Amino acid sequence: MKVLDSIDKFAKTDRIAVKCLDKELTYKELKNYSDKIAKYLLEEFKEDRTPIIIYGNKKNEILPVMMGALKSGRAYVPLDITFPEQRVNQIINEIKPKVIFNFTDSCLKIEEALEINYNDLKDILNKTISVRISNDNWVKEDENCYILFTSGSTGKPKGVQISKRNIDSFTEWFERYLEFDECPGNILNQISYSFDVSVIPIYIGMANGKTLFSLNKDTLEDLHILFNELTNSNIDCWVSTPALAEICSNFDDFNKSNIKKLSTFVFAGEVLTKKLVRELMNRFPKTRMINGYGPTEATVLISAIDINDDMLSDERSIPIGYPISNCELNIVDEHGNKVKEGQKGELVVIGDSVSKGYFNNPEITNKVFFTTSQNQQGYKTGDLAYYQNGIIYYCGRKDFQIKLNGFRIEIEDIENNLRKVQNINNVVVFPIFNEEHKISHLTAYIVLNEENELSNLKNAMLIKNELKKLIPSYMIPRNIKILKEFPLNTNGKIDRKKLMEDLK
Ligand code: AMP
Repeated sequence: MKVLDSIDKFAKTDRIAVKCLDKELTYKELKNYSDKIAKYLLEEFKEDRTPIIIYGNKKNEILPVMMGALKSGRAYVPLDITFPEQRVNQIINEIKPKVIFNFTDSCLKIEEALEINYNDLKDILNKTISVRISNDNWVKEDENCYILFTSGSTGKPKGVQISKRNIDSFTEWFERYLEFDECPGNILNQISYSFDVSVIPIYIGMANGKTLFSLNKDTLEDLHILFNELTNSNIDCWVSTPALAEICSNFDDFNKSNIKKLSTFVFAGEVLTKKLVRELMNRFPKTRMINGYGPTEATVLISAIDINDDMLSDERSIPIGYPISNCELNIVDEHGNKVKEGQKGELVVIGDSVSKGYFNNPEITNKVFFTTSQNQQGYKTGDLAYYQNGIIYYCGRKDFQIKLNGFRIEIEDIENNLRKVQNINNVVVFPIFNEEHKISHLTAYIVLNEENELSNLKNAMLIKNELKKLIPSYMIPRNIKILKEFPLNTNGKIDRKKLMEDLK
């Protein structure tokens, strides 16, 4: 696997692999620690290759644990600290790990799993003698490298399994697209490890000896620290969702004279607006700007394009680009037949980038994944799009999946969890759009089982407090409004259209 070979190669230099605030880890340390962790896993857990859990945010030592897992032939499951305890436990119950590397201050206390905290990890690193782990132990072709849990419409997260073959397919294409070489450089490592855009700095950045410039959750929550970090960063490649760049654009000083080396922006994960691109083009002249598109199920990105001035003056939205070279991207109608150029349909991807499916969930896997007669793996993205001159344009979703501030959310995931809150009879969650047709926030409409004397505000507060225990904070609707009843359609279901009209 290229990233593992590269770590060994750059370990012979003095390069820094990862930086977070004032802490650094060199490639030498990364190699040394990952070898020790792999040795520990191989010796302690022998043939049992159950995926390991990594719970934490951007601690530098998370990377050697990930790489150590891969060297020992195990997949890792990164769980971010924004996941509430219930969701963490749900995922742990699903994976049934033998070992959890816990980088947080709280203890998970899972009976069947060995929990290794930061101090235990240091002990392991001190006690274990470093030996090079033979490639025979590394993860191979269709074996999983990582499993990422995304919001699921049933209210239970789905674990997307990504294999070595999937990662190779993505990195071979996108590394070439980025024109990366092995010169020293700094790449932004901002996205939480439980979201797949973080794969770009790890599997392309580290495979080319770059330094990962990490921004942790605390830094991201304090705009002044964030800005200070960025201006001192020397990053030349920016990787984020458009949401972070939008936040940074609130600072007048977010420009080329303060982030001098920045030569490429890679945006991925949600709609990139012309307004943001125009703003950035003014502040960062002559800087490459790439719009990347892809679902976690097909490994990070499956199309990309460099944005130019013509696209900004075009009446169409910014395209999501040219397809990845090693997969087939088709636009199909409701019968699965390819549509003509310019016609809208569902985007379906076939090829080596496509995951084998959701962990332990054949039912949902079979709904969206398929195998072709040539034995290739396919995935129905649920995204609507059309082709024009070989370029793909995105036109929204077929279902209730949304992106809010870069986070992927199934509206039904929120609704199903709201139904678990006491005294809630039924609920409808609507995304609220701003003038640029982007979702600004969510509003939940709720009918209670038993009316109470409390104000809407008080009810909303109580409901939000309960909901926080079930879903990550970025999924909590900003507004909660209590209604007496919902309009029903002839099938007896809530009439969402009518409700929306009534609320206007
Ligand atoms: P995730 O699995 O979190 O990467 O989310 C994948 C979904 O995000 C896709 O199916 C799209 O709906 C949306 N998405 C990702 N990239 C873009 C983009 N560049 N433009 C518009 N939507 C995007």
